[in-house]
Amino acid sequence: MQEKYNFSEIEKKWQKTWEIEQDFKTAEDYDKEKYYVLEMFPYPSGKLHMGHVRNYSIGDVIARFKTMNGLNVLHPMGWDSFGLPAENAAIKNNIHPDIWTTKNIKEMKKQLNQLGLSYDWDREVATCKEDYYKWMQWIFIQFHKKGLAYKKENPVNWCSSCQTVLANEQVVDGCCERCKTPVGKKNLSQWYFKITDYADRLLDNLDKLDGWPNKVKTMQKNWIGKSTGAEVDFEIENFDKKMRIFTTRPDTLFGVTYMVLAPEHPYVKELTDGTKYEADVKEYISSVEHLSEIERSSTTKEKTGIFIGAKAINPVNGKNVPIYISDYVMMDYGTGAIMAVPAHDERDFEFATKFGLEIIPVVDTNDENIDIENLKEAFVAEGKMINSGAYDGMNNKEAIEKIIADLENKGIAEKTTNYKLRDWLISRQRYWGTPIPMIYCDKCGWVPEKEENLPVKLPTDVEFTGKGESPLITSKTFGDTVCPVCGGKATREMDTMDTFLDSSWYYLRYCDARNESEIFDKKKVNYWMNVDQYIGGVEHAILHLLYARFFEMVLYDLNLVDYEEPFKNLLTQGMVNKDGKKMSKSLGNVVSPEEILQKYGADTARLFILFAAPPDKELDWSETGVEGSFRFLNRVYRLVHEYITEIKDESWNSEIKINSKDDKELNYVLNATIKKVTEDAGGRFNFNTAISSIMELVNELYKYKEIEIKNIPLMDKAVKELIIVLSPFVPHIAEEMWEGVGETKRLCKVKWPKYDEEALVKDTVEIVVQINGKVKEKLALENNTNKEVMIETALNNDKIEKLVEGKEVIKVIAVPNKLVNLVVK
Ligand SMILES: [Zn+2]
Ligand SMILES: [Zn+2]
Repeated sequence: MQEKYNFSEIEKKWQKTWEIEQDFKTAEDYDKEKYYVLEMFPYPSGKLHMGHVRNYSIGDVIARFKTMNGLNVLHPMGWDSFGLPAENAAIKNNIHPDIWTTKNIKEMKKQLNQLGLSYDWDREVATCKEDYYKWMQWIFIQFHKKGLAYKKENPVNWCSSCQTVLANEQVVDGCCERCKTPVGKKNLSQWYFKITDYADRLLDNLDKLDGWPNKVKTMQKNWIGKSTGAEVDFEIENFDKKMRIFTTRPDTLFGVTYMVLAPEHPYVKELTDGTKYEADVKEYISSVEHLSEIERSSTTKEKTGIFIGAKAINPVNGKNVPIYISDYVMMDYGTGAIMAVPAHDERDFEFATKFGLEIIPVVDTNDENIDIENLKEAFVAEGKMINSGAYDGMNNKEAIEKIIADLENKGIAEKTTNYKLRDWLISRQRYWGTPIPMIYCDKCGWVPEKEENLPVKLPTDVEFTGKGESPLITSKTFGDTVCPVCGGKATREMDTMDTFLDSSWYYLRYCDARNESEIFDKKKVNYWMNVDQYIGGVEHAILHLLYARFFEMVLYDLNLVDYEEPFKNLLTQGMVNKDGKKMSKSLGNVVSPEEILQKYGADTARLFILFAAPPDKELDWSETGVEGSFRFLNRVYRLVHEYITEIKDESWNSEIKINSKDDKELNYVLNATIKKVTEDAGGRFNFNTAISSIMELVNELYKYKEIEIKNIPLMDKAVKELIIVLSPFVPHIAEEMWEGVGETKRLCKVKWPKYDEEALVKDTVEIVVQINGKVKEKLALENNTNKEVMIETALNNDKIEKLVEGKEVIKVIAVPNKLVNLVVK
């Protein structure tokens, strides 16, 4: 151990040692308890950013901590390496996506190793490699066999910039989630996964995920959007078909004052063709055609619509109400038609107010401040039924069930459940993705490729023209093939898979990454799964985390895995900001990990990030904070160096006896620190407070170093255990100091220290003295002082004596180690 903390040399030295010694290689050990810690794998853009550094540092502390606590830890890393950026780079720089991606992976892997992350690289996966996407195709075929993959023509979300379709989950605020271009609609024949079949399970299982943040569960719940209600038939005047609507509020049927059809509803044409309304209706439809679902359902958008000249008949009271069309009603939610109750629905209220339509309240409020006959806004809370014939006076929640039952008896309603969740559109019109292993034959239709012919390889004879069409179409070798069923001439599917499929099961492949004969060995997967701790950004709350849960459930149903849920505990780490704003190129506030690594080293970067904020909170980057972390590491290094060169002597190996008051204090701080770090790193992940307590131990050791008669065996223990508890956070400097104090076994394999509860009992405790329940004084008393002595000490205290002077003490209560309360009059 050199005198100066030369981080660059030290970090290189230990990274090399760990690699040569294969310290992070993991094997199945079926008798040993396992722990699977996983960080969301990155897209290989070529450069790590601070968000990555934070994500992986958190995971690394957990992995190292669990290993030192005797668990068999799986901590893998890989690459979500298909996707558009590689294809765009290919167009721009005339370089094949595979070359661009492979180069980026190499570069990023180097950066990950520079951070000292304890990955088992033997399990590395890259989704763009044949040995991965072969099994992706295999999974697709299993889904297809199960009836969960189908092709259908539908109006789909289309990003004109990415030149591809998008899943509903990829449309954020009406724009492409990736490039922010406003998303349009296009009629295309596309592949879908039937995630809707799993809607109830995806919803119900959320209750079992105790280790997930509530906000993520709520987001998934809202996205699935289950609502129960009834479908009710309304007759239409002078029209032979009935209008079926879906409502979650059958209790408000008597308050219906108009009806709305989605502009796409097939009745619209039938009801208006050849009428005086036809032209205006057509004009309205064309004015809303281009709007996305999100724009249409936006609550801030002004409501638009038009009367189509027809009237419906309310089945509960025979009243005629006008039929409108409006874009706030979607064709693919419910039946594409609604009954409108402006008194009790916000959107309907807004629409009715704008178009001067009647507002009839049918649920009364108990709130005196609301005039139910002259509502200023829709009343949506519970209440008593009014204006509703036989149902008047009932609670409206009870009325829902009663009305549904009555209408069901008459054959005009049906109790139903609706979901917002749609089937997952999974095909993309791009090249750099897993080819969909489906073949079209004129005779047999769509049939899957034979499993023994997998992988269907991505051809290399393609042109990247940047002209919009998928480069796959330009291949002369890819499209033509033979039908796996009849042997006739057939063509391959030209679309590739959404990359969110690749990331829906990568955590399973890590369990058996090099398996060539099957997707994975079931025994291995069942040993490692499920993931004990998953760590990633909250932006994946709906997309990735919902899709992965869906995949795991299907694979469970296919009897490939024994767990229905992939991730037992989820930690969503906070963002890394600078000056209160998210680091971004456009704001010019990006701090690159490279820069920090060069100036201070990986240990400082890790320490700062882990110390600056709890993992799930936002972190504000601060240069002074980084310098502070660097100074602290220097301080620890100096302490250990001085200890081994100036203090340590032969007596260090003897038995530890606690003699003096100073010994006792050091022993107390040491054990308190171990306890704190064990609890914080082991479950709560409050790394910031764990590091604070380590800092206190360092201060205590500096103090102890200055006293005259030192207890060398105790100090030795304290120095060594300090190094151990520091090591998950700053592994390089810790290994160096560990070697410095004369240890030969590598620190990453050392057992975590235990704390001694007895040492944590302090000699003196603070008790408070209260007068009539108010704290007036604090006393330092010997631990476990009995009640009598406590009361005597309190009464003899100068301040208390003065306060009770001339008053009568009528009662005294003492709680050992806590308080004395005097009741005076
Ligand atoms: Zn886009
Ligand atoms: Zn055929």
